[in-house]
Amino acid sequence: MSLLVVGSLALDTIETPFGKAERTLGGSATFISVAASYFTQPVRLVGVVGGDFPKKELEYFEEREIDLEGLQIVEDGKTFHWHGKYDYDLNNRESITTELNVFADFDPIIPDTFRKSRYLCLGNINPELQKKVYLQMENPKLIVADTMNFWISGKKEALIDVLQHINVFILNDSEARELSKEANLFKAAKKIQSYGPKIVIIKKGEHGALLFYEDELFSAPAYPLESIYDPTGAGDSFAGGFIGYIAKTDDISFENMKRAVIFGSTIASFCVEKFSLDGTRDLSHLVIKDRFNEFTRFSAFEPAEL
Ligand code: AMP
Repeated sequence: MSLLVVGSLALDTIETPFGKAERTLGGSATFISVAASYFTQPVRLVGVVGGDFPKKELEYFEEREIDLEGLQIVEDGKTFHWHGKYDYDLNNRESITTELNVFADFDPIIPDTFRKSRYLCLGNINPELQKKVYLQMENPKLIVADTMNFWISGKKEALIDVLQHINVFILNDSEARELSKEANLFKAAKKIQSYGPKIVIIKKGEHGALLFYEDELFSAPAYPLESIYDPTGAGDSFAGGFIGYIAKTDDISFENMKRAVIFGSTIASFCVEKFSLDGTRDLSHLVIKDRFNEFTRFSAFEPAEL
């Protein structure tokens, strides 16, 4: 089934205790569309880059059959630049700089051919832009949205407005606490559901994820990794794997969303093993399936009598 992804395309500077990468490929739409492209076709991308965006990366998107008809290239502008720094607790990061550049004037125009996409994934961008996107869509089956603390603190009202119109909201534990003003994640999820989305997914970094589906709950484990190199893009890769699998199966039931959460976690686990997009750039169905199966094996247990 068709999937439209809208979000940031970035040149990131990333510092972790294990190394530094400068002006490397990043952005929410990048990680989401690449992750989703392992599951479903067509994946359509809407975003904006400057003239400094490497041509070879555009070719890479095309090789993955990601449709770039909706990509705007501002030749005399600079691509969005984000500089993030992590300490040894890789769940915590600091945004050193966020230079919106061409994103500051971005008007997301959805090409006619994209408006009927069955699935829409709104990556982490200004919620005012997220709204402009869904208003142009013609009756999508499911809208998934992601965000980050930058928008929760800077554009809370606009974000709450977006939440009324989406079906699935994905955020991490600290964002859920900040948005809901609830310390407890169950209470936080219930409050966020009351803003609109009946399905809320709270990611807990290396501790897994919680899927709140109306009144049901699924607690997903994390894949136990021996080495984590760079967490950048893990959340977006999760969202891409999740919505990619939902779009492939065209099934939005609770049971299927549980599998989608595990596929999302699977792609996120590849993402963090290497710097920026290197962890997910070149996967195969075989390695994804193997890790999904291992995931299942690591977390399965039999019911027991007491
Ligand atoms: P994640 O680690 O999944 O939360 O996503 C990291 C990506 O989000 C990086 O590649 C950044 O380029 C991008 N990013 C960081 N801040 C913002 C922002 N304020 N708006 C849009 N994208 C951002």
